[in-house]
Amino acid sequence: MSTSAAGARTVRVKAPGKINVSFRAGPLRPDGYHSVASLYLAVSLYEEITATSKPGTAPSDITLSINSNSVPGLAAGVPLDGRNLVVKAATLLAEVSERACGVHLDITKRVPVSGGMGGGSADAAATLLACDALWNSGLSREELSHLAAELGADVPFGLLGGAAIGLGVGDRLNPALAPAALHWVLVQADFGLSTPAVFGALDRLRAASGADPAVPEAVDPAVLSALRASDAPALAKALVNDLQPASISLAPQLADVLADGVRLGALAGVVSGSGPTVAMLAADEDHALELAARLAGAGYNALAVHGPVHGAKIVSDIRH
Ligand code: ATP
Repeated sequence: MSTSAAGARTVRVKAPGKINVSFRAGPLRPDGYHSVASLYLAVSLYEEITATSKPGTAPSDITLSINSNSVPGLAAGVPLDGRNLVVKAATLLAEVSERACGVHLDITKRVPVSGGMGGGSADAAATLLACDALWNSGLSREELSHLAAELGADVPFGLLGGAAIGLGVGDRLNPALAPAALHWVLVQADFGLSTPAVFGALDRLRAASGADPAVPEAVDPAVLSALRASDAPALAKALVNDLQPASISLAPQLADVLADGVRLGALAGVVSGSGPTVAMLAADEDHALELAARLAGAGYNALAVHGPVHGAKIVSDIRH
């Protein structure tokens, strides 16, 4: 690679996409955000960031590429300049790292873009961890998490992984107990939904119906106890997403996806975050594989995954 030079180092980090098993949104706040209560679950669909240092260059020398192992076509709408969250993440970390130098960041994209699965957030979390290692920044996980929150509400969870309750705008995290893997089928769409557009649709739907939502203070205890007990049928009854009607209002075909999933045997389905990815819950791994095959047979882009899985993690560290 042209960026490798004597003294260069390459750190590769994997970070998971997420689904929201439960997502409650309060009213629009004066700052333009919504307070939420979210149960995040990291699932086994991973982004990868490969960060290679460019010794002797300025920290502002940040370059970016998309790896050819990415899911074909997925990265089409992803900006390759300073708007990319990985560039923002490296820039932010460089500001607080005394030994920062230039870096080349290579993204392997597997999480659908604008899919409601926090793919960009996973990239940003992975970049923070990779550059922290490259530059020996010596930041604690907590300090990295603070930087992550500056980049976006879902970025701290990309670092933490597992299962977690997210309050505030989703960035105030507390790990939730989920001792065994749950099995899901993700139905991925061939289009994206903009998160601000979906929240806007939610506000319009609520205004039209006269709804007056409270600020959510906690995740439904039924969700937490079902996760603790790894009880898929109980969790199926508790899946909820306040954004789902808004996502469906912008993409009505999601209602068919949800209905088809249940018709083909899912315990239940829910739109993940702002969508359009739909997460279908299965009873166990075999059921998830069977459900994925049935959904694929019906023409859907379906993928069996499990969660919780780990958050951003270094998978290799090579000195050239
Ligand atoms: P969330 O659920 O956290 O709102 P999402 O999964 O719906 O996110 P992402 O794919 O994370 O959506 O981000 C979508 C937007 O962010 C797109 O408009 C894209 O252009 C921009 N973006 C910036 N950096 C990235 C990145 N590294 N990967 C994907 N999208 C990125």
